[in-house]
Amino acid sequence: MSAIKVLQLYPRDMSIYGDRGNTLTLTKRLGWHGYEVELLSHNPGDQLPEQVDILVGGGGQDSAQERIQDDLQKVAPQLRAWASDGVPMLVICGLYQLFGHEFRTVGGEVIPGIDVLDAHTVGGPKRLIGNLTVETDDFGKVVGYENHSGLTTLGSQARPLGRVSGEWGNNGTDGTEGARAHNVIGTYLHGSVLPKNPRLADWLLARAVEHAGQTWHPAELDDSLAIAAAKVAMSRPR
Ligand code: GLN
Repeated sequence: MSAIKVLQLYPRDMSIYGDRGNTLTLTKRLGWHGYEVELLSHNPGDQLPEQVDILVGGGGQDSAQERIQDDLQKVAPQLRAWASDGVPMLVICGLYQLFGHEFRTVGGEVIPGIDVLDAHTVGGPKRLIGNLTVETDDFGKVVGYENHSGLTTLGSQARPLGRVSGEWGNNGTDGTEGARAHNVIGTYLHGSVLPKNPRLADWLLARAVEHAGQTWHPAELDDSLAIAAAKVAMSRPR
């Protein structure tokens, strides 16, 4: 069996509020489920690997988004091709915004996105901060920590990751959170999100294993600690 190739996108610039925990969760769970893992990284100026089975990327301040924007445009055609080919991807906050069409900062600067998700984002006047619980169709309740000022609006081609009844999600007004297209998930949830949401983690891993041409045979894992941590986060929205 060949190793499942996990690519972290911009770990140097785009990884805040615990986002590295997503990479740890994906690689650890793959091992626990009995699969070999190869962890790859892409930072600005690097050559993308030829093949990947799953991609994970985190958030960053506006300044970090500015730093990676040129490189992101360079690798955009390959990222779009992988997305269309069914490579599962999880992108958080700052990279979620840039997987859409554009992010217009509060200062009026436009950072172009890569059009994988039909969404656009405009910098808002205040920061939206706190633990957020999202009701999703495929993964049940998903909980994570949001901290952003960008307000994201989905276009007709994107479906949301789920719905929120409290604060804030994509924009605090239409009750949506995150976006999905192909096997790509964008979300505002940091925290990190995957350690507390094993169902979401295993959905991404199942798609990765299938992409590698292998069969998904998950082991029975004891997720009681993860579920307890999620419950605590859900009970503390602020
Ligand atoms: N700079 C973006 C915002 O504040 C993203 C922040 C983040 O990734 N947490 O909207």
